Amino acid sequence: MISLTEIKDSVLHLLFPHVCAGCGSDILSKNSIICMRCVEAMPETNFELHTGNPVEKLFWGRIPLTAGTAQFYFTKESLMQHLMHQFKYKGNKELGLQLGRLMGEQLVKSGNYIVDALVPLPLFPAKEKRRGYNQATILCEGMNEVMNIPVLEKVVTRPAHTETQTKKGRIERWKNVEGKFVVADPAAIQGKHLLLVDDVVTTGATLESCGLALLNAGDIKLSIAALCVANR
Ligand SMILES: [Zn+2]
Repeated sequence: MISLTEIKDSVLHLLFPHVCAGCGSDILSKNSIICMRCVEAMPETNFELHTGNPVEKLFWGRIPLTAGTAQFYFTKESLMQHLMHQFKYKGNKELGLQLGRLMGEQLVKSGNYIVDALVPLPLFPAKEKRRGYNQATILCEGMNEVMNIPVLEKVVTRPAHTETQTKKGRIERWKNVEGKFVVADPAAIQGKHLLLVDDVVTTGATLESCGLALLNAGDIKLSIAALCVANR
């Protein structure tokens, strides 16, 4: 006999199909946004297992890191690009949480990321308002579900452009904006090993300046984890 719950589930599925954000398949568990086949197809870097990996090298001579990684390769016209697009521009927060959980699982397994707190790289306030959320914070929340490490969302901020900056030259203004991270609560990070989290690492310039602000604010150890790295 068909139960009432099964009928309800079928109707709900027709009205609000629960399908994989990667391939559209409906063979996925209730709590998943990406199906197992897509998870397996995501191109892992395994950087978290190796010291001196390309992400760590990127920051050599720039900021001192305890460890650095990005979990997946990002290429154009790929599954990762499709997932990132939905996460960043289509408001799919649930997808971001699952991506964060995947990151967290790999970091825990590696044993190389024993940290005290997760710090999402802040967005400019106007950008966060437009998007409705900071994607790095969502990743941290997913990581927290697996790692059980607190997320310190407000310790570092990125103030909006000021009036005077608009009068400066373009290059000078760019420099100014890049350096504009402010540690709002230095007491909250003293003596801690922080894991700074972002969605993509490309040149590393933004992570560098945010990391530098954190390092200058006190006695901390810094590691970096990004979801993706641009595949060169
Ligand atoms: Zn899929």
